[in-house]
Amino acid sequence: MDWRLDNIMKNCIKVLSIAIALFIFAGCTSQSQNQNQELNNENDRNELGTELSVTNSVDGSKAAANTPIGTTSNKKGTEKEKKPLEGLTICIDAGHGKTTKSTNRKEPIAPGSKIMKAATASGTSGVYTKISEESLNLTVSKKLKKALSEQGAKIIMVRETSKCDLTNVERTKLWNSSGADLTIRIHANGINDSRVSGILMMIPGDKYIKDKEMLKKSTQAGQYILNGVLKSTTAKSRGTIKSTDLTGFNWSKIPVVLLEMGFMTNPQEDKLLNTDAYQNKIVSGILEGVEKYQDSLIKDKTK
Ligand SMILES: [Zn+2]
Repeated sequence: MDWRLDNIMKNCIKVLSIAIALFIFAGCTSQSQNQNQELNNENDRNELGTELSVTNSVDGSKAAANTPIGTTSNKKGTEKEKKPLEGLTICIDAGHGKTTKSTNRKEPIAPGSKIMKAATASGTSGVYTKISEESLNLTVSKKLKKALSEQGAKIIMVRETSKCDLTNVERTKLWNSSGADLTIRIHANGINDSRVSGILMMIPGDKYIKDKEMLKKSTQAGQYILNGVLKSTTAKSRGTIKSTDLTGFNWSKIPVVLLEMGFMTNPQEDKLLNTDAYQNKIVSGILEGVEKYQDSLIKDKTK
């Protein structure tokens, strides 16, 4: 009897010990799960602070549904704010530049032509300000880059520093292969008569260029840009000239215009051209012209 009782007691203690051990183990496991959960929550909180979208996607079954909603609302936002010049690529050619190479280089005026012309030219300079044309052209071109970019255009710059070793043919090759829709060449004029002033637009003629579409688009762009700049500056118009002897036109495969912003040989115009306010007027006029040109392209496509 005593032996049996002793055996039963021992068995009971064994069972109890196992039960207690199991209970403690289970407790530990659940505690460690809780600890893990807290760590995860901590991570979530850290991510919440830095990356809201990640927290959304972590949020279980709603995540899949949330992602497209977020995307849609973003898309709606961009659609509303769609910029007028989105999809348009403009090449800005700030005229001239300081070359480190020989200034005696010559190149054909047009593909296949035997007529040779100077490959680079130094430009004019301000009779009053003494500022070089290449410097003024670059200042305005940089402002134009900013203004057109802000309206959504992609910009290719021929140069962004005073130094430029490109020849006229090399400039055209740069924009021909750039994917640009239009090249705007920025220049200032000079003449041996200080009374002459005003804005001139130059567009390519058809002596060497046989692409009628390119010529037509150049004419349209030239008209819109000249009208825009005349409106914003109220300067005197010197009209539009079709030029067949500019290397930088004849080698161009894309629409191209050249804006002569004014005469640096006229003291008043030289002074004006080199003020921030007048440069901004020129830029806003070009911008208006480019926007109208873009509209005309869209209208042509939908015809
Ligand atoms: Zn020039």
